[in-house]
Amino acid sequence: MNGSMMQQPLLISSLLTHAERHHGEQEVVSRRVEGDIHRYTYRDLGARARRMANALAAHGVGLGDRVATLGWNGYRHMELYYAVSGSGAVLHTLNPRLHPDQVVWIADHAEDQVMFFDLTFLPLIEAIAGRVKTIKAFVAMTDRSHMPGNSAVPNLLCYEDLIDAHEPEFEWPTFDENTASSLCYTSGTTGNPKGALYSHRSTVLHTYAIALPDSLNCSARDTILPVVPMFHVNAWGLPYAACMVGAKLVFPGPFLDGKNLHELFESEGVTVSAGVPTVWQGLLAHVEANHLKFSTMRRTVIGGSACPPAMMRAFQERYDVNVLHAWGMTEMSPLGTACTLKPKHLTLPAEERLAIQAKQGRAVFGVDMMIVDDEGQALPHDGQAAGELLVRGPWIISRYFKGEGGDPLVHHEGVGWFPTGDVATIDADGFMQITDRSKDVIKSGGEWIGSIDLENIAMAHPAVAMAACIAAPHPKWDERPLLVVVKKPGAHVSRDELIAFYEGKIAKWWTPDDVVFIDAIPLGATGKMQKNKLREQFQDRRLPKA
Ligand code: ADP
Repeated sequence: MNGSMMQQPLLISSLLTHAERHHGEQEVVSRRVEGDIHRYTYRDLGARARRMANALAAHGVGLGDRVATLGWNGYRHMELYYAVSGSGAVLHTLNPRLHPDQVVWIADHAEDQVMFFDLTFLPLIEAIAGRVKTIKAFVAMTDRSHMPGNSAVPNLLCYEDLIDAHEPEFEWPTFDENTASSLCYTSGTTGNPKGALYSHRSTVLHTYAIALPDSLNCSARDTILPVVPMFHVNAWGLPYAACMVGAKLVFPGPFLDGKNLHELFESEGVTVSAGVPTVWQGLLAHVEANHLKFSTMRRTVIGGSACPPAMMRAFQERYDVNVLHAWGMTEMSPLGTACTLKPKHLTLPAEERLAIQAKQGRAVFGVDMMIVDDEGQALPHDGQAAGELLVRGPWIISRYFKGEGGDPLVHHEGVGWFPTGDVATIDADGFMQITDRSKDVIKSGGEWIGSIDLENIAMAHPAVAMAACIAAPHPKWDERPLLVVVKKPGAHVSRDELIAFYEGKIAKWWTPDDVVFIDAIPLGATGKMQKNKLREQFQDRRLPKA
C-alpha cells in the first residue's frame, strides 16, 4: 500500500522560490571583480535568475544542455546556479585555476554550449576560444561599460545586456527530480578528469543534510561567507543551503587574501565561513600580525584536506571561532562527514576534545560508510583498524559522466559501494579519521605510516608554516617518510630540532627520516598540497643512513 502524500519532485528552482517568498528581504552581498561592493536581496536574485533563464532559452539552451562557468563567488554566478539548473540545463562549474589545455579538454568532454566568465579570466578565454569545439557563445559577467574592447573572442555577449533584454516572468519548469542539474570534474591528479553529474534530487537531499545542526548548521540567523569557490564542488552546497534556510550570503569575489576576507567578515557581520586549510593560513597570519579579532564569526567549516589541530587551536582558543572539520569529495556532492561532538565529549579536557575534532567526523544521515582491508573484508569500527573507506548514499555517484572509467563501484554482499581512495579508521562512536589518501600512503617495511598525523605534528611547531610528508624510496624499508617544510617568514628551525619534535608524540618508527626546507609547497587548483609533485621532485633524494 502506498502512502497518500503529494508527489512533488525535489527541484533546485524550489530553493530559490522559497528564499524569494519567505526571505525576500534577506541580503546577498558580493565583492565584485571590479572591487566594489554589490548588495541586493533574494527577491532581486530571483527576478534576475528568471531573466537569465529567459535569456538562456532565447539562446537555444535546452533541457540537459551544459552551460559552463569560469567564475568567482559572486551574485551573478549565484544567479546562474539557479537560472541554468532551474531551467533544466546543466551547470558546469569549471575550475579557472586549471591549465588552459585542461579547460579545453574538460569543456569539450562536457560538450559545453555556452561559457560564462568573470573578467579576470578574459586572457584564459582568449587562449581557449579558438580551440573549444562545442561552445556557441561566451558571456562576460559584467555590464556594458566594463566590456572588453576589440576582443578577439567570437560571439562575445554581455551578461547585463542579457538581463536587460529579458523579462523577469518565467515559470520554472517541472520535471523528473532525477534530471541532471550540475556537473563538476575531479581534479584528475591521475589520468584525465572525470565528471560527477549531480541531479536535482541529489542536490536537494544534500542541501537538507548539510543544513542540519550537526552538519554545517545553517539558519536564517546566519550570515554565510563561502570562501570555498563556487567551482569547488558547488561551494560545498552553501549556495543552495543559504536559500533553503534564508541565510544572508556574502561573496568575496576574487579577493581571498587575509586582509580583504577579514574586512568583509567584520563589515557584513559574517557568522559562518567555509574553506580549505590553506586559505585560513593567510587569514590567521593577517589577524595575528595586526592584533585583530573576529567580532561576529563564531564558526568555520574546514575541509578538503585535513585541518591541522594547530589551526583549530588557534581559531578556537585565541579567537573563539569554533572549527567544524568536515570531509567529502566531488563524487559525494561533497559532504560525507562532519565532526560535531556527542554529549559525552563536552566534559572532556580541552586536549581530548581537540583530538576528536581532528578526526573527519561522523557520517551525516544519508551517507553510509565502511572500511575494508586489501582483500575487501570489512574491518571493525574500533578506531584502530585502518582500511579503504567505502561509501554509499543518494548524493554519491554511481558512475562517472559518460561512463568514463567503467563501473567505479565495488560490491560487498551484493551492494555497490563507492571506493573513496581514502584510508581511514572508524571508532565505536562512528567518528571516521582519514590517515591518508591511498596514493599518498607511506609504506615502510610493509606497514602503513599515516602522513596526515606526521604533518599535523610538524604544523604544531611554531616555526612551521606548512608541512607535507611524503614517501621517499628506501633500500631496506621500500619507503620512509620525508618531511617537506615551509618555514614561517623570519623563523628558524633545524632538521634535527624538527625530528626531535616528534619524540614522544608518535611511535618511534614513524618519525620522518629526514627534513627538507623549501620556499613553497605546490598547491593544486583547489588549494590542496600536490604531494605527487613533491614526490617527483624528491624521488632521487637519498635518506641519511639510520
Ligand atoms: P580533488 O582534491 O581530487 O580535486 P576533491 O575535492 O573531491 O577532489 O577531494 C576529495 C578528497 O580530499 C578526499 O577523498 C580526501 O582525500 C580529501 N579530503 C577532503 N576533506 C578532507 C579532510 N577533512 N581531511 C582529510 N582529507 C580530506
